[in-house]
Amino acid sequence: MKNKQFNQTLCQFLDASPTPFHATENLLKMLTDAGFKSINESDDWSNLTKGKYVVTRNDSSLIAFNLSAKKLSETGFRMVGAHTDSPCLKVKPNAEVIKQDYLQLGVEVYGGALLNPWFDRDLSLAGRISFETLDGKIKSKLINFCLPIAIIPSLAIHLDREANKKRSINPQTDILPVLLQGFEKTEKTEQNSLSAILTGQIKKQYPKIKLRKILAHELCFYDTQPAAVIGLQEDFITSSRLDNLLSCFIGAQALINSDFKQSSLLVCNDHEEVGSQSTSGAQGNFLLSVLQRLCEDNETYVRCGHQSLLVSADNAHGIHPNYTDKHDQNHGPIINQGPVIKVNANQRYASNSETIAIFKKYANDLDINIQKFVVRSDMSCGSTIGPLIASLIGVKTVDIGLATFAMHSIREVAGSQDPFMLYKILISFFENKFKK
Ligand code: ZN
Repeated sequence: MKNKQFNQTLCQFLDASPTPFHATENLLKMLTDAGFKSINESDDWSNLTKGKYVVTRNDSSLIAFNLSAKKLSETGFRMVGAHTDSPCLKVKPNAEVIKQDYLQLGVEVYGGALLNPWFDRDLSLAGRISFETLDGKIKSKLINFCLPIAIIPSLAIHLDREANKKRSINPQTDILPVLLQGFEKTEKTEQNSLSAILTGQIKKQYPKIKLRKILAHELCFYDTQPAAVIGLQEDFITSSRLDNLLSCFIGAQALINSDFKQSSLLVCNDHEEVGSQSTSGAQGNFLLSVLQRLCEDNETYVRCGHQSLLVSADNAHGIHPNYTDKHDQNHGPIINQGPVIKVNANQRYASNSETIAIFKKYANDLDINIQKFVVRSDMSCGSTIGPLIASLIGVKTVDIGLATFAMHSIREVAGSQDPFMLYKILISFFENKFKK
């Protein structure tokens, strides 16, 4: 696969994955199409033979693994970790708000979203719906309206002359998307309720389902502008959710295209943006329980963990030409100049000298440049799933990522050359080309 084709497939994946549920569904399809066998946590795994498997939890986290013929106690896993969730606006349970005859939906801010870019966008809605069927069963299905059905209009500058200097955003009152006009006047109020709108969407996407009643929903608004490769010389990829579907996609593609001689594993967790403490988050026991089940006894599990390595992939802050003083003078990663190793003395990143050396060796052998990121000493540092998995499993870890601008905006920017570089390094890593 070439760089351009890789980026095209990446953009298709980003567009088709507006929520962690959709990202997981698409990763699952990508992996099963490549020969991975889909298994459930409720299945009996005691007789799993060597081969490729994939398992999901909560429809929003995924672990894919290849079991080689060699003993796990002697090889461990080459693991790559990423996260499926991104900051967004989530619809509240009782969401309908009617003001001035407009139908709006109340939203919660999920994660550390940069709110300003959410104004004046053509928004759509997607997520998971749980409902009762006519025969009394409870089912869940993913929905995606695909079309632009809402907008959060800015307040005109004439009504707020200080907008460019002082405007702050109240997430309770200022960011309710507008979906519909004439809500009160029409006799179709019942038909225009959120529940009716969702019922209609389920019938449209799943005509065979006999639905009695919607019981609950987890829905996110998203921008309908598709991902794109842009710039005078096509240097940039712009999209929502580059943090961190970029790493999920690269990790999955690298796993699929590796030689499967070494036991390897990809973990994509939900809920990183809100602290990872959930059944599907990196602080939950999903990965732990998968590893324990693949190792026949505790002795093997401990030895396997000791032999394993984890590359935790999550985006890094590229140095922004308009704000160069926001980076340490010697640690400002440049877009398109190679993957970034993330280091933090206070263990907000799990990289250490040993794991950094191993990752650098993989890159050096492929003639790929590596950059380093350390946050300014007078600023606080972000974190990711690396330190959480490292401490839970006891696996040696390096935190890396690709340089991006506008992290947590509704439109983020990455380089068009970096993803393919990381893809090549991760293939080599999964194949354990360099033995420590
Ligand atoms: Zn992230």
